This record gives sequence, C-alpha cells and structure tokens, in this order.
Amino acid sequence: MAWQPAENRYEKMKYNRCGRSGLRLPAISLGLWHNFGDDTPHERKVDMCRTALDLGITHFDLANNYGPPPGTAETAFGEIMRSDFSGLRDELIISSKAGYYMWPGPYGEWGSRKYLIASCDQSLKRMGLDYVDIFYSHRFDPETPLEETCGALDHIVRSGRALYVGISSYNSQRTREAAAILKELGTPCIIHQPSYSMLNRWIEDDGLVDTLEELGIGSIVFSPLAQGMLTTKYLNGIPEDSRAAQNHFLKKEFIRPAIIDNIRKLSAIAERRGQTLAQMALAWVLRGGRITSALIGASRSAQIIDCVKALENDSFTAEELSEIDLYAREADVNLWAKSAEL
Ligand code: NDP
Repeated sequence: MAWQPAENRYEKMKYNRCGRSGLRLPAISLGLWHNFGDDTPHERKVDMCRTALDLGITHFDLANNYGPPPGTAETAFGEIMRSDFSGLRDELIISSKAGYYMWPGPYGEWGSRKYLIASCDQSLKRMGLDYVDIFYSHRFDPETPLEETCGALDHIVRSGRALYVGISSYNSQRTREAAAILKELGTPCIIHQPSYSMLNRWIEDDGLVDTLEELGIGSIVFSPLAQGMLTTKYLNGIPEDSRAAQNHFLKKEFIRPAIIDNIRKLSAIAERRGQTLAQMALAWVLRGGRITSALIGASRSAQIIDCVKALENDSFTAEELSEIDLYAREADVNLWAKSAEL
C-alpha cells in the first residue's frame, strides 16, 4: 500500500498568513538545497520528506540549481511526489526559483525573461509537475530591467506555471520597486525569501522587515540555523558528516574558537529555556510574529523532528533577548552574502 501521512499532521504545526495574501505557510518549512542531490541516498530523502509532512510541514522549497549536480534535488523530489506524495498535491506548497547559474551561455542565469521562463519549464519537467505554487526570482539582476524580470514572473503565473510569485535576497529598495511593478501588472509579490538568523541580521539593518510589513509581503527566512552553526554540533570540533566538513558553503574558517565560545553561551540560554540551541534559534526568528516561516535544511529526519519542537516555546523575555544579542552579535560571522545589492 502507498505511504500515507500521519492523520494528526495538522494538529501541531502553526500556519501563518503569508503577508496579506490568502496563502498560509507552516511556521517551519523544509528546503532541499543540501542533502537532496546525488550525494545522498534516495531513502534518506524520502524519509526526510515523509517526516516533514507527518509533522505538518506542507511547504517544500526548491530551486533549479539545488543538487549536486544542479537539478538533481528537483528530480529527486519529483520521484518522491510520484512514489509517496501522489494524491497529496493539493495539500502541498512547492516552490522553485531561477537566478543563479544553471546552464552555459548568456541565457542560463540572472533575471532575463528568456532565462526565467525556460528555467521554470525545466523545473516543472524535472519535478513532473504541472505548476509550482511559488516561483521566485532568486536574486536581483543589476543588468536586466526590473520590468522585464517582473514581467516574466507575471507571465509565469498567467500561463499557469505558478500560482504565486516571490523574490529572494532583494534589498529593501529593490523590493519596493519590484512590488510596485508586480502590483501594476496584477500579479502581487506575496513573499520574500531572505537570509536571517541570530548571526545574520541584515534584514533588520536594511529595513527590509519593515518594508515587507508595510507592503503586506510575507517572509520566509533561509538559513535560520546559520547552516548548522546555531546548533551544538560544532562545540567540540567539526564532525565528519557535517556541512562544515565539506568546506564549501559553510567554511571551516567560520568555526573559530571565539565564535564557538559565544555559541556555547547561546546554547546555555537555550538549555535554561528547556530547548535545544536549534529550537531556540528557530523560535528567535519567529518571535513576535513578523516572519511567516523559518526555512530549515536537514541532513536527517531526527533534525526535522528536533526543529519542529521549537514551536513549543517561542516567546522570549526581554532579558533573554538582550543576552542573546550580546553573544550573537559578538559571534556574527557574516555567513551569507547579505544581498546582491547591499
Ligand atoms: P539551516 O540554517 O537550517 O541549516 C541546515 C543545516 O543545519 C542542516 O543541513 C544540518 O546540518 C543542520 N541542522 C538542521 N537541524 C538541526 C538540528 N535540529 N540539530 C542539529 N543540526 C541541525 O538552513 P540551510 O542553510 O540548509 O537553508 C535552508 C533552506 O533555505 C535551503 O534548503 C533552501 O531551500 C533555502 N535557501 C535559499 C537561499 C536563497 O538564496 N534563496 C540560499 C540558501 C538556502 P548538517 O548537514 O551539518 O547535519
């Protein structure tokens, strides 16, 4: 018999309204950037997707280039759609993006109409889907008129390839511009996907959080665990099976004694709150209800189970917040390019 998701899957998860749209997203969503390429056994990917859905995580975030090699995360997810999630399409929010390098030549990256529409078609084919729920411009393109990029997003919706559109890593000013163009076209920008964590606060400093609130755009924040640094895994060195061991997106040089010292102090605060550090880091990005969803990654199902428990204690005292600020600001390592335009 085909796999069936847990019947009680909607009981524990919180679903937050995405800006002023009609869409609600789970407070915690799962991204397939890492550990869904050809370097990971398929059974593990299946297990993580099943675990997520069992816990009420209805939103799976992809992009054309997720792998390795690029495209394989979408292919793997397409297989899971057929083998495990078939019959569940209407219960899922599936997103993809285009913006980063995907194929050679002048049409394989950035923000032209040519690239975005071709890439969206490729993503749909790899996943075996008729449409994605959300399609994003993955990054602002300084050389393509924003009208063209937004026009392509509008076309992607009007042609039935996506239900909603969003933008990722655009700064506050570019967000205002894109939102105005999309509004004029009649396809509102309903979501922004920026990086955000206790260690990376550019969206506060840039005013993006305020801008999104003002414009009624939802926010789904990526790398809320700072790619795993906001967990206890690096307190005693770099485990072989960790992301930092790959020394690619998360560099070994970030795991410095001074930073680890501060992360140990953050972990002690989490312990006092009866949480793991990962849980506290997720509760922190969701505090106060300004962020729609925390977009996590995982290398195994147990991490997803651990992360979802963050919702059991998501409020902070003023003292806890200022103590977190003290150590997190000191440990701020600028883990992610803040925005192409900053
Ligand atoms: P996180 O900050 O959540 O880091 C995920 C990593 O943290 C995991 O791979 C795992 O590391 C570790 N981890 C997760 N949960 C736990 C836990 N409970 N205990 C211990 N360790 C844990 O997010 P990502 O950096 O993976 O990004 C999440 C998603 O955001 C991506 O999949 C993608 O969808 C999106 N994204 C979007 C970008 C954009 O430009 N729009 C850019 C980057 C990401 P380990 O593998 O070492 O076990």
